[in-house]
Amino acid sequence: MWYSICLMVSLKSIFGGGSHPLLKQAKPIVEAVATLEDKYEKLTDEELRKLTHDFRNRIAGGETLNDVMPDAFAAVREAAKRTVKLRPFDVQLIGGYVLHNRGIAEMKTGEGKTLVATLPAYLNALMNKGVHVITVNDYLARRDAVWMGQVYAALGMSVGVINADNSYRYDLGHKEIDGMRDEEGSFRVFYEFLRPSTRREAYEADITYGTNSEFGFDYLRDNISYKPEDLRQRGHSYAIVDEIDSILIDEARTPLIISAPAQESEDLYRTFAKIATNLKRDEDFTVDEKLKAIQLNDHGIEHAEKLLGVENIYTEKGIKYVHHLETAVRAKALFHKDKEYVVKNGEIIIVDEFTGRMQPGRRWSEGLHQAIEAKEGVNVQKESRTFASITYQNYFRLYDNLAGMTGTAKTSSEEFYKVYALEVVEIPTNQPVVRKDLNDLIFQTEKGKFIAIGRTVKELNKKGQPVLIGTVSIEKSELLSAYLKREGVPHEILNAKNHEREGEIVAEAGKIGKVTVATNMAGRGVDIKLGGALATLEEYEQVKSLGGLFVLGTERHEARRIDNQLRGRSGRQGDPGETRFFVSLEDNLMRVFASDTIKNLMGRFGIPEDEPIENGMVTRALESAQTKIEGFNFDSRKHVLEYDNVLDKQRRAMYARRNAVLVGRDDEVADVLMDLAGGNEEVLAMLDKKEKEIGRPTLLTVARTIVLQTLDMLWVDHLESMEYLRGSVNLRAYGQRDPLIEYRKEGTRLYKQMEEAFAARVFELIGNLTKEGTAGAMSLAAMPAPAPILNLGRIQTNLPPTDAGAPMSGGNELGRNDKVKITNGTETKEMKFKKAEPLLKQGWSIVE
Ligand code: ADP
Ligand code: MG
Repeated sequence: MWYSICLMVSLKSIFGGGSHPLLKQAKPIVEAVATLEDKYEKLTDEELRKLTHDFRNRIAGGETLNDVMPDAFAAVREAAKRTVKLRPFDVQLIGGYVLHNRGIAEMKTGEGKTLVATLPAYLNALMNKGVHVITVNDYLARRDAVWMGQVYAALGMSVGVINADNSYRYDLGHKEIDGMRDEEGSFRVFYEFLRPSTRREAYEADITYGTNSEFGFDYLRDNISYKPEDLRQRGHSYAIVDEIDSILIDEARTPLIISAPAQESEDLYRTFAKIATNLKRDEDFTVDEKLKAIQLNDHGIEHAEKLLGVENIYTEKGIKYVHHLETAVRAKALFHKDKEYVVKNGEIIIVDEFTGRMQPGRRWSEGLHQAIEAKEGVNVQKESRTFASITYQNYFRLYDNLAGMTGTAKTSSEEFYKVYALEVVEIPTNQPVVRKDLNDLIFQTEKGKFIAIGRTVKELNKKGQPVLIGTVSIEKSELLSAYLKREGVPHEILNAKNHEREGEIVAEAGKIGKVTVATNMAGRGVDIKLGGALATLEEYEQVKSLGGLFVLGTERHEARRIDNQLRGRSGRQGDPGETRFFVSLEDNLMRVFASDTIKNLMGRFGIPEDEPIENGMVTRALESAQTKIEGFNFDSRKHVLEYDNVLDKQRRAMYARRNAVLVGRDDEVADVLMDLAGGNEEVLAMLDKKEKEIGRPTLLTVARTIVLQTLDMLWVDHLESMEYLRGSVNLRAYGQRDPLIEYRKEGTRLYKQMEEAFAARVFELIGNLTKEGTAGAMSLAAMPAPAPILNLGRIQTNLPPTDAGAPMSGGNELGRNDKVKITNGTETKEMKFKKAEPLLKQGWSIVE
């Protein structure tokens, strides 16, 4: 085993010129920790462990976390030295400081963010309220818990893990393999240290590791639980989100939804899938790739009407059929097998467009998933009813204090600040970066590009330099693999189809002569060391002398972040390295966004398809296209959020009431009842009477059950109404009115209506209680909640499944051929209503 020898970088160079104020503030902490190092080095293991107790006492005595920070960080540094044999660098301490102060620490890949997180995690866990560390997948949650568990354990802190199917507690038990764990812990999970536990035990630990979706789902699950002892979480105090851009930006467009199947006929999907196969692009419908939308034209509608055997789909079949038709065409034209999804064991599994990961259990909403199932001829699953839902934005806003880390946040700092009030702070690297980022090479055709990539990789491979090739989809990774085979270049493929071995494949990607083809998923979590994960100094030096890791991008991604993430795999900790993107005029980004000038320019060169040109103008055009798409995507996430904020207020109020009734003392339940009664004399008299008849304790026990069940029933209905409302405010014309304002106004009205219905129903049930009847009502408490299945989908931004939306005040309906003027805030267009519909669903709204 070999450790890098750290150069002493002077503090002055770290904190020097023009940097973020938080960097300067961190300076005295770093100095104080340095001063404490000798003292802590001399402590016995037992004395080190006891420090936690002392720190907690200091906090109980009125000191703040900031007061304790230098000591706490020094303790963690000492514990890390003793256990994982790593001494946190000064820049890592700075990262830790930023994480404690509502910052996003932008630290490059390989800077050791896993270790950085232990500093603020330990500090905040001193408050005894639990700290959550969020990782991008289950595997990394286990890895980090086992790897860093040793550091926490040396300080007497407990660690939990929540995974999709299991929960664990870190268990020191098996000491024998400690040595191996220290060496391999950065990419391999040692299950011997994970003792299966209940969810609740995992959350009771001082520090809990898990994925964003599991934390979010547990929150929702707790809020549909019927027994206090089933509750999992114990509040939301402090969370550190690793790879925060991946989680809060890339995944933010799919909210978490817990739902159960409802009735919807499978035949309908099959019928429309068949109709869609008969419709032709451009003849029956057009595709707007920029907006990822389709538009049926009159010819297409008539064609579909003929196939359905109806005269007029709108008048005879209504909005529901139109929705089915459009969805089937979307499924056909915009969703491709092995790109947006894969078919596995008779199921459609979504592939995340940014990370390239399969996302089993997730489903597209509004019937899109079913439409794709019908298209692929697999079993069409039942549509579902929402029991609880939340966006990641609103889940993470529940925390008193939030922090994040990633190698790539800078290009999204505006979004982080506006949505989460998080500041992105660039932390200097431990060693200067010497990686060479070469200019893009541009080819006329995709084929030419792949031929050239094959040649380049063969050359690099011949001299032994390891190559990591990033591809944008599974399909492309397989295509490229074929080109490499033709050139006789041996290689590993890493895509969503074999992510079980991800950790090890990535860890070995830096070995001499390795060629690894990966989708974007390989960009996260596991560090690529020159010479391989367990390289000897000699192996390391050998790869270093060959120029380090060569990262080859085969296409620019929509977001610059994702490209930077790929580049960042190379040149860690001052290592040499090279990166280069190969792009072609046939790439998606180019095809859709590059201007004709560029295309003409390329044409004029008249060079063979596998000969590249290097042209600054083309590269700049690509980057400006990326900036534009980033802005567009930010807007669409902001849009989703603005709508969800309306629901969020209501959800918080309902869940607070629910929690009071589920776990509160009797007088809290009584308060809820008083609150509902709102001074109504009649109701108060009734409650008095019942109290005399059946006694206060029984009354309150039964009331708990009644309130819970009524609340859940009405809330589920309310969620559905809000979904319909969401669809209809965009579709219906409101004159000058802003759909968001309408949504807020109508949403508030619906909520009030539900409140009234809620009180009426609760008091009706209580009023009908008899002494004998209470036994039955009490046994309701034991009734299991409807078993919801997990389901992730987009929030409603599309047509409602039926046109039975909530009654709208003053909305004048528009006909299909009526002219409307619509806007997306920057652009305004005038067109027929039927043409405008797809745009309205994208977030455009009607001006007049
Ligand atoms: P990141 O998440 O920032 O990409 P990791 O946490 O995966 O980085 O760590 C990358 C590698 O750096 C690991 O192999 C780890 O052992 C090593 N490392 C982290 N901190 C230190 C340190 N203070 N000294 C030496 N090596 C370190
Ligand atoms: Mg990491």
